[in-house]
Amino acid sequence: MAVPRPVGRYVHERRFGVLRWGGMCTNGARGTAGAGDPRDHGRVPELPEVEALAAFLRASAVGRVLTRADLAAVQAIKTFDPPLSALGGLEITRARRHGKFLDLDVSGVHLVVHLARAGWLHWRENLPTAPPKPGKGPLALRVHLDDGNGFDLTEQGTRKGLAIYVVRSPSEVPGVARLGPDALQVDRETFAALLGGRSGQLKGALTDQTLISGIGNAYSDEILHAARLSPFKMADKLSDDELVRLYDAVRATLTEALERQVGQRAATMKGEKRSGLQVHARTGLPCPVCGDTVREVSFADTSLQYCPTCQTGGKPLADRRMSKLLR
Ligand SMILES: [Zn+2]
Repeated sequence: MAVPRPVGRYVHERRFGVLRWGGMCTNGARGTAGAGDPRDHGRVPELPEVEALAAFLRASAVGRVLTRADLAAVQAIKTFDPPLSALGGLEITRARRHGKFLDLDVSGVHLVVHLARAGWLHWRENLPTAPPKPGKGPLALRVHLDDGNGFDLTEQGTRKGLAIYVVRSPSEVPGVARLGPDALQVDRETFAALLGGRSGQLKGALTDQTLISGIGNAYSDEILHAARLSPFKMADKLSDDELVRLYDAVRATLTEALERQVGQRAATMKGEKRSGLQVHARTGLPCPVCGDTVREVSFADTSLQYCPTCQTGGKPLADRRMSKLLR
């Protein structure tokens, strides 16, 4: 059921509303109820979503003065010097992305955010001026701009992973300092060298932010499917042809996702992302390429999806965690 939402309120108070990727244009946006599956890890922001968010902030927030930032979830902020209040009264000069981190440059003081699993950014018009009550609900930080608009950083659920840093340089954030080359910037030779020097499975290598940054659980599934490679293949055992396929798949998958998201109205962003997925979060559905059934196997603390015909020579992968339990 799609119903217009009142102006200036959360569009997605429902857990799985459509404005996941940054609730950018709340006025007149419409939700699609019941579209979500709690196991759909595709909702976690990765390079394309965070880049789309940065692009949105470049258009809406850069050039404005940040008048005030209200902290509502004390545990979300990871730094104390400079204080949060140092941002107040300064102009936002730049918005960009480092891996899956969002970086707002506020005249030399940086507000760096990692949205983690259930973190959201909601653009809000005509923010209420009264400070929010700390510790209540999903709100972590509210940022006010001089035109009366602003945004909320929120986090749903109990596993609080949203992290906010106020720093003089993004490299002061440990997770940013550790980032490997960006998945959309890395050249072919560097990419080949990084994988060649890595022992372990491809799925783990692609999602390791210190090796290559920006790729998470959803797009690594999509990339490996596009490259027709098993997620359990060893990263340092790829042939030249396989390396070329993988590199091209990284660029194509992320570029296409980015093009679908940047400039999209928020109301259609999530649908676009979903419709673009071939295997991720599609367990039991037919592979759009070959028609085989998409399968799922556990990996680390989550699960991955793949197509046996496209990726593993038609053979289903053994679920290691399960076979360990059975032994
Ligand atoms: Zn297939």
